[in-house]
Order: sequence, then C-alpha cells, then structure tokens
Amino acid sequence: MPLTATRSDARAPNDAMTEPPARPDWRQQLANAIQDPVTLLRRLSLSEDLLPGARAGEPLFALRVPEAFAARMRPGDPDDPLLRQVLPLAAERQDPPGYTADPLAEVDRGGTPGLIEKYHARSLLVTTGACAINCRYCFRRHFPYHRERGDGGRWDAALARIAADVETTEVILSGGDPLVLDDERLGALCRRIAAIGHVSRLRIHTRLPVVIPDRVDDRLTAWLRETRLQTVVVLHCNHPAEVDDAVRSASSRLREAGVTLLNQAVLLAGVNDDPDTLCALSERLFSAGVLPYYLHLLDPVSGAAHFDVPEQRARRLLEKVAARLPGYLVPRLAREEPGRPNKTVLAPDSHVDADFVQNAR
Ligand SMILES: *Cc1c(COP(=O)(O)O)cnc(C)c1O
Ligand code: SF4
Repeated sequence: MPLTATRSDARAPNDAMTEPPARPDWRQQLANAIQDPVTLLRRLSLSEDLLPGARAGEPLFALRVPEAFAARMRPGDPDDPLLRQVLPLAAERQDPPGYTADPLAEVDRGGTPGLIEKYHARSLLVTTGACAINCRYCFRRHFPYHRERGDGGRWDAALARIAADVETTEVILSGGDPLVLDDERLGALCRRIAAIGHVSRLRIHTRLPVVIPDRVDDRLTAWLRETRLQTVVVLHCNHPAEVDDAVRSASSRLREAGVTLLNQAVLLAGVNDDPDTLCALSERLFSAGVLPYYLHLLDPVSGAAHFDVPEQRARRLLEKVAARLPGYLVPRLAREEPGRPNKTVLAPDSHVDADFVQNAR
C-alpha cells in the first residue's frame, strides 16, 4: 500500500468509516494514561494476586503509565522489565539505611526558583514537575515540585540569572519531563534562551519520545528546527524492548530536525542488570540513531532499594559490555553525588567521541 494516498484515489464516501481510527494526539494519550493498578493488571492479563502489593506501594508514589508504553509489555509476565519500572510493590515500604527522600540534596538549596546551578557552564531549568510516566526508581519521586517550579513568574528570574552569567553556554531543560509542556510554551522559552548571546546549546532531558512517541509531532520539530541553538535531546530508555518502530520514527523525526540524540539509562536490578540486555539496549538505541551516554547507578531514594545493583557488580557488568561492543556503544557508568559539580564516572575511562556524534547524524 502506498504511503501517500492521493486525491485521485476514487473512494466511496463510506470508505472513511472503515479506516482504522486515528490515534489520539499525544495530549490525549497523556491524559488517558493508566493510573489504577486494577486497570494495568487487567490490561496485561495479570493475576490479581499482584494487587495487594500494588496497593501497598501506590500511596508512596502514584501509578502512571501511558497505553503506548504498556503496549510494549508482555501480557501475562509479572517480571516484564517494562512493567517492573512502573508497578508499585510492597517492597517500596522497606528502606534500608542510607535511602532518603532527597538523595541528591537538591531541596532547599536556596537560590533562584526553578534553576539548578550545580554544573559548571550549564544551567538546569526545572520546567515542570509533571511526567508522562511514574518510574518507581525515580530519584525525584518525593520532590516538592510545588515549591521548585519556576513557572509562577514564567522563568523570568531563572532566565535573568542565565543572562547575567556569561559563562553559561548550555541550558538544560529538565523536570519532571519538559516535553509534558505544550509547544507554544516550549517554543517561547526556547526563543528567550536563544536571545541570550552566550548560550549556544539547548539540552532537553526527556522520556516522552520513548513513552509516547507521538509527542514528536510537527509542532515540536518546528521550533527545534527554527532555533539557532544547537539542540541535544537526552532520552531516557532502560531496556531494549522500549525501542519499537514508533520510537525509531520519533527519533528520526528529531534527527531530521537537527537534534543530536543521546540516551541515559539507570541500572536497575531485574530490569537491565545483565550484559546481554545492556548490549542489546546499546545496539537498539544505535539502530534508532541514539548514542548511549550514561548508565546511572541508582540514587538511594526511599522506596527504590529493591532496584539496587551494588557498585562492584555494576563495574563488572560494564566490563563485560565493553568487551563486546565498540567503545561508542559503551555508556559511562556514573553516579550522582550530592554537592559535586559533575557526575562521578566509574567506568570505562574512555569518552564518547565527539566526531562520531557529528557523523552519526
Ligand atoms: C548528569 C545530568 C546533567 C549534566 O551532566 P552532564 O555530565 O553535562 O551530562 C544534567 N541533567 C541531568 C538530568 C543529569 O542527570
Ligand atoms: S523524571 Fe524521569 S525517571 Fe523520574 S518519573 Fe519522570 S520520566 Fe520517570
């Protein structure tokens, strides 16, 4: 079947009714996300035996998973690696020593609302507290976004600070998930950032193109194409099964808009903590035009201890990955430490080759 149907295709008026219904737009998909454990378990033909655990974990952090992501889970498999990232468990109620609500000490740093200035020459704007999906391991699961959000004054104070600091060359949009915001607001924000002469790059940390690939629509690529800023999108994808055809086409739309695509994953027990899965993740990301960038150790956030992979095991895993893949497909194993101006890279000690990033586009 040709991809483009022309007007000259003679069609009976009723043909339109037999076409598959168009997918709801991304905003609708966002609003329709599954937010109830019973619905999720039924959707995946899973036993209601999982319900008490889900009910026990749910009050700690709401369940939230869009249909487009749930559709990539294996029905009937309680250990599905995508399900494991979103299904609340009773284990979340057990906190070993060292697990806290704010592991990176980002709350009450003082300073400008909505702005995190812990990295050199890079300013991080917390654009929104909302996400398309609630990941159980998220280090911000307890973050008081109502206090941190900068959109009361529409980012005025944060942008004024960036404009005043000539050393800032990169603005990072973070959250929550910045692509939860609509393109009118994002486009306007991008234009305000581009108006600051010393800023040359805009980086967006987002899971949305993976979770709801339809988010990458013409409105999004329009403002990305238009900006003078170099744009980098750091996707957040943890398992090869997250990369389906829809994600691949979202990635190519982003690349056609001139975006450099990187990925950061979190090393999660029972999700991706074996060399085969990590190698497959790198290969699949690259087949979608995305370079693996970071593999994070879990931040010790309350409720997520069951995802922990000890550092020594993590290093050994990464050595196995490095032995099998070309260097540019080996992510840097890193940990975020409170108060440090950059991540601590644990392995390997090589770098993503900047020339390669360019040529891969
Ligand atoms: C690590 C990190 C950064 C900045 O670190 P780089 O080493 O410049 O990539 C920014 N935002 C988020 C969310 C990060 O995890
Ligand atoms: S910030 Fe990222 S990891 Fe945390 S819930 Fe949102 S999408 Fe998931």
